[in-house]
Amino acid sequence: MKLYEWEAKQLLASLGVRVPKGQLVKDKFEGKGRYVVKAQVLEGGRGKRGLVRVTDDPQSAIDEMRKLGIDAFLVEEYVPHDREAYISALLDRETGEPMIAVSPVGGVDVESIAQVRTFVIPMERGVRGYDLIKIERHIGIKGVGEVVNALYKLVTEYDAELAEINPLAVTPEGPIALDAKVIIDDNALFRHQDLLSKFNRAYKPESYVDLGGDIGIISNGAGLTMATMDMVKLMGGEPADFFDIGGGADRARVKEALLRVASNPRVKKIVINIFGGITRCDEVARGIVEAIDVIKKPVFVRLSGVNEEEGRKILAEKGIKAYSRAIDAIGDALRS
Ligand code: GDP
Ligand code: MN
Repeated sequence: MKLYEWEAKQLLASLGVRVPKGQLVKDKFEGKGRYVVKAQVLEGGRGKRGLVRVTDDPQSAIDEMRKLGIDAFLVEEYVPHDREAYISALLDRETGEPMIAVSPVGGVDVESIAQVRTFVIPMERGVRGYDLIKIERHIGIKGVGEVVNALYKLVTEYDAELAEINPLAVTPEGPIALDAKVIIDDNALFRHQDLLSKFNRAYKPESYVDLGGDIGIISNGAGLTMATMDMVKLMGGEPADFFDIGGGADRARVKEALLRVASNPRVKKIVINIFGGITRCDEVARGIVEAIDVIKKPVFVRLSGVNEEEGRKILAEKGIKAYSRAIDAIGDALRS
């Protein structure tokens, strides 16, 4: 999910990055003086398309752009600056670790930005002083600590695929983010409900299948998952959503499945049908226990197979019943 510039800037500001003073305008803008009016559209290259205007008459710029069908504008104070640089954070494909990409020359054209250097900063150590020294030396800007830490945090804690500031402008007061682009990994959106509600965005992952009912289904393996759906239907229930945890799922995977299925507002109860083979029932139970207090929806767990006894014990300690037969778990779910 790509954030709008005003959203990305609000997020960056909350993480300590300096951004121009500004406001989101949907109808009229009253102020007089020099402003930058920026169309809030998700496509890049606005500069080249005339959708970023430095102007002394912001209302006219808004009126003109509105004719193009644009309905939201970020109106900011004009920030005079000496130079524009580029900085972003993303994941290094080779190591899977976060990296910071920087160039001393930033501006409109991302593709043609030259002199880009990347600095891999492994999660287990995090951003250190010597990283900042190397980065500052390459872009020739002092005081980028807040910027680097914020971008790094967006990748490591907000699941951003990309967090980019282009241009990062150099002013006598230090660096300031004139533009911001943040893309959150869709597969991790279920972890960021707070962000979604803050920006009033709906959570609609592509893999989400709205089946219209109210029962969430979690199972292991495509065959068993489909069979569970069929059973729910045959017994008179309506599935809302399903999640196949696959083979050999660990507790984190199980927890993810539960959080994700539970985040569908249609889901009122969840049937978990596990037949342990390479999937271990104790791991499944641990995942359920870790998620149960967060999801606040009733679960009906059928647990059978490898490490079943251990799994049952773990669930029982949390007051969760484990069924031996799927038909009983589904039956109780339908009657509840
Ligand atoms: P993009 O083309 O969609 O990436 O839009 P940008 O926000 O990056 O704007 C394009 C260019 O407009 C930037 O490279 C800057 O040179 C300029 N620009 C953008 N925002 C500001 C601003 O707040 N103040 C000033 N002075 N220039 C800006
Ligand atoms: Mn830009």
